[in-house]
Amino acid sequence: MTALPQPRHGSREETLISVARTLDRCTVLGPGVRAVVWVQGCPLRCHGCVAAETLPFEGGTSRTVADLTDWLCHLDGIEGVTLSGGEPFSQAAALAALLDAVRERRPDFGAMAYSGFRHEALRRGGPDRLALLERLDLLVDGPYVAARHGSLRWRGSDNQRLVPLTDRYARSLAEPDSTAGVEVSVEPDGTLSWAGVPPTPGFRRRLEDRLAARGFVLHTEARRER
Ligand code: SF4
Repeated sequence: MTALPQPRHGSREETLISVARTLDRCTVLGPGVRAVVWVQGCPLRCHGCVAAETLPFEGGTSRTVADLTDWLCHLDGIEGVTLSGGEPFSQAAALAALLDAVRERRPDFGAMAYSGFRHEALRRGGPDRLALLERLDLLVDGPYVAARHGSLRWRGSDNQRLVPLTDRYARSLAEPDSTAGVEVSVEPDGTLSWAGVPPTPGFRRRLEDRLAARGFVLHTEARRER
């Protein structure tokens, strides 16, 4: 067996990940039922990005690999985790460490990530990015391009590709491309949250406008979901 490239970090369990938000269960950001980690910070500025609050590298909540590993390993009935953002490959070493730590306890844990960069560029992007790629089963790559928005499974515009990195999700990927989906939920404290890829452009702006017309203001601060 070939050893996986190792990310560069100190104490793995204490490695910090800047997190915008987490979600225990989601069915619209990858195959099956998945947990989601939205990381904080993205160097790109795609016009029409639906995750504007995750773009600054400042903010977010610093979570240790140990903390996130415990959370993921205690979730029942999930297939794996989706890493979104923000730009997961801006925190590639820490996320690779997270996947290693989770798989030591749950070896069959699936992993998928989004990136605004193309797969080919990530492969040339240095050892940390390569280390994260080597631990993923599926990558959704490329920037969001509003002019190419489509109602697509798990992605927003048709330039974005579903790149299988293992054969784990071969059956899902062989199925016809279904439409995009959004899950909206109201937390016990009254917080409205949503996850997924809107089937039409401008979803975020329309949602905010309609809520504002009813006297509600959408929270834009990064927040934890659990
Ligand atoms: S890469 Fe993703 S998070 Fe970053 S600006 Fe583009 S759509 Fe937004």
